[in-house]
Amino acid sequence: MSSENAPFPGLSSTPRTTLRRHKERGSADRGDLYAILDAGLICHLGVVADGVPLVLPTAYGREGDTLYLHGSSANGALGAARDQQVCVTVTHMDGIVCARSVFNHSVNYRSAVVFGTATRVMDEDERWQALRVITDHLVPGRWAAARQPTRKEMAATMVLSLPLAEASVKIRTGMPVDEPEDLGLDVWAGVLPMTVAWAEPQPDPLLREEIPVPAHIRDAVQR
Ligand SMILES: Cc1cc2nc3c(=O)[nH]c(=O)nc-3n(C[C@H](O)[C@H](O)[C@H](O)COP(=O)(O)OP(=O)(O)OC[C@H]3O[C@@H](n4cnc5c(N)ncnc54)[C@H](O)[C@@H]3O)c2cc1C
Repeated sequence: MSSENAPFPGLSSTPRTTLRRHKERGSADRGDLYAILDAGLICHLGVVADGVPLVLPTAYGREGDTLYLHGSSANGALGAARDQQVCVTVTHMDGIVCARSVFNHSVNYRSAVVFGTATRVMDEDERWQALRVITDHLVPGRWAAARQPTRKEMAATMVLSLPLAEASVKIRTGMPVDEPEDLGLDVWAGVLPMTVAWAEPQPDPLLREEIPVPAHIRDAVQR
């Protein structure tokens, strides 16, 4: 979905999504938000459970301006998040920025923070679609290739939706920013770039020999 057609065009700042530190690293481009979410595989879900902050990693999927999370119906964090204010973050590390001074070391990154009320999805069609979106977000094409959930498995699964209405994006790129008086030091400075790469698929030893690595798994490795 393009930014222009989105129900929440642009990223408008609210008091809690307004960057105070390094505002120049912020982006109000909804396309940047989508790109960060779509390139990530896991998010961190922050909730207040029994008065205590709890942040847990979890898978997710995005459809348009909705973020879907899922887990066991007995999942404590998801249960605590239901109909509550939550904060979800997605982070990509792109490199370590080595400055001449320890103080000016930094990280190149793309990150998104989403605030909102998580709602438990009850409609069976939407739950099914949300689970498909989450599955295909991890490995495109996997939903159609694998056995579909049974009614019992669906009943054991909780799905939450979070609107992408209140979010911030922050991106750091480039070289270290050293103090002018440090530029002459005999200290190496620069960026240690970082990428996440897929490796060769490892077939389950219990897999029947005649089943080859399917195209969607090969494609996932090429991502
Ligand atoms: C991988 C990584 C490592 C980092 N390491 C450090 C570190 O060691 N020390 C450090 O001080 N900072 C670090 N940062 C930056 C950190 O995320 C904060 O942006 C920064 O600390 C400012 O915090 P603040 O509470 O003053 O932000 P404020 O600018 O006051 O935050 C206000 C609002 O801006 C938005 N916002 C703030 N930061 C981000 C973000 N990163 N992404 C998206 N939205 C954001 C949120 O909506 C937040 O509620 C790191 C960031 C990343 C991605």
